[in-house]
Amino acid sequence: MTHAAKVVAVTGASSGIGEATARRLAADGHRLFLGARRAERLEALVKEITTADGTAAFRRLDVTDAADVRDFVSAARERYGRVDVVVNNAGVMPLSPLEALRVDEWNRMIDVNVRGVLNGIAAALPSMRAQGGGHFVNIASVGAYEVSPTAAVYCATKFAVRAISEGLRQESAGDIRVTLVSPGVTESELADGISDPVAGEAMKTYRAVALPAAAIAEAIAYAVSQPPQVDVNEIVVRPAASAQ
Ligand code: NDP
Repeated sequence: MTHAAKVVAVTGASSGIGEATARRLAADGHRLFLGARRAERLEALVKEITTADGTAAFRRLDVTDAADVRDFVSAARERYGRVDVVVNNAGVMPLSPLEALRVDEWNRMIDVNVRGVLNGIAAALPSMRAQGGGHFVNIASVGAYEVSPTAAVYCATKFAVRAISEGLRQESAGDIRVTLVSPGVTESELADGISDPVAGEAMKTYRAVALPAAAIAEAIAYAVSQPPQVDVNEIVVRPAASAQ
């Protein structure tokens, strides 16, 4: 191993990119603390990682609840003594045209994708500052750079994650590293949450070239493994076949 083992808390680790990231970072020797609402999935993943001689634990987590996120990060600190990296990965993407007025789904995206990331920052920033260093890896999307029909609100949340990440980087330069990882289309359960038929149909073609989630985990592992003076700020990973 060419880098120090770290304590890494990952939100949304029960499927897709978060799950692949947990596997990959555990294989690199890091100690993982995993959160999501589907605790049974986390339990199975922790079992798999520990059976392979990795170090991992989990706690049920709803990132929309600030107190729950604080407790999640505290539990990670209690277990391992510190938290070096928070991967703010949990996200939802119920796409729809604005005129469908799926206001509840807009609010859910704002709650999970934006408030969830802010809750992660609020929960971990003070202890990172106190210990003299830390690293936030925030998962945005190619939708943080471009907007497409049915994705206005989703993209807005990801533009927000990008803005928050850049602000955090500027304000905390010196001891806190901030990495924005923006995946293009990637295999996961993300599109399962689309209830709008127009958006659901469009997704079938778009998702045909999806990358394996391990490709995004690789980018996260790269950022996490850099020496302390190196802050990888933004990584965009698209399928080679993807024009968008
Ligand atoms: P998945 O749907 O497979 O994973 C999403 C994860 O978020 C799940 O583990 C889910 O767990 C968790 N989650 C959702 N709501 C909450 C909540 N309220 N509290 C805690 N955890 C929650 O999709 P991906 O792996 O693709 O998504 C991961 C990230 O990648 C998201 O931020 C997404 O926007 C982003 N992304 C994905 C792309 C893709 O094509 N797949 C492209 C660009 C960005 P649970 O339901 O158990 O709580």
